[in-house]
Amino acid sequence: MKQLKVSTVHDFDREDLESGKAKKRLFVGLVVGAGTVVVSFLLLTLILPVIGLANIHPWAPYVFSMLVGGLILLTVWATFGLIINIHLGHSPLHFAKIRGLTIKLLLPLMTLVGKLLGIPKDRIRSSFIKVNNDLVSSPGKLYKPEELLLLMPHCLQNSRCKMRLTYSIDNCKRCGECPIDALLELSDRYGIHLAVATGGTIARRIVVERRPRMILAVACERDLASGIQDTYPLPVFGVMNFRPHGPCFDTNVSLEALENAIRKFMDPQYFPENRVDHNPAKPKTEVEQHQKNSNPAI
Ligand code: SF4
Repeated sequence: MKQLKVSTVHDFDREDLESGKAKKRLFVGLVVGAGTVVVSFLLLTLILPVIGLANIHPWAPYVFSMLVGGLILLTVWATFGLIINIHLGHSPLHFAKIRGLTIKLLLPLMTLVGKLLGIPKDRIRSSFIKVNNDLVSSPGKLYKPEELLLLMPHCLQNSRCKMRLTYSIDNCKRCGECPIDALLELSDRYGIHLAVATGGTIARRIVVERRPRMILAVACERDLASGIQDTYPLPVFGVMNFRPHGPCFDTNVSLEALENAIRKFMDPQYFPENRVDHNPAKPKTEVEQHQKNSNPAI
């Protein structure tokens, strides 16, 4: 396999970091747009039938107005609650269901608003994934290794490899011709189950079988956005793959980004270096592994 240069991976990470703020700005813009669409629609439903409702019962327009007014307040509250959450990293409004609302209501509306404005779907999905990652990170919850699941797309596997990884990841011969080898090493080191899915159905089956409390998923924007929606309320932290050969073919992932995600959500007492069976001669992280490879004296 043609190895992706480390500089390329770092450039990708840096660009991803720099574009994080832009993604958030796009998300906030689209959320405000979606909220405005909902409020405008509700105002329309309020104005149009009120005159006719008075013929049914003199109180009917007031009851209807209160109902729609309540929905308008809820939409405005949800929109601002989400924006505050994005900026502060936590919700001062104690709006625990804000991620659910974003996923179920705002994402489809945001996609619609974005489409009307001519914004590519993948840009909208990417901004949604960034905000979703912030929302799942904000409670600061930590997990045991067995409560986490590393879910990978099959396109990470070398396209010439004949091993059937969806049945068992142990079928991998660890030849180093694709990222699966290093991902298995990462999974072994942190004691987190690694699974490869060929699509949404297999991914759902894996989730049902393993019953994780949190998923660290690697995929493209489309699969990550739909996976986050499908598995709600289960938290999913998404790491985007990169596609140097085009979509769904010999893709790659930043092991550094994935390891950072593991260390963000795993209780530090389960980190390899904190376990009693830890071998200090063994490098601790992908970064340390890279440093050790480039300087054997370490
Ligand atoms: S590392 Fe595993 S999955 Fe990748 S090409 Fe080698 S045997 Fe196949």
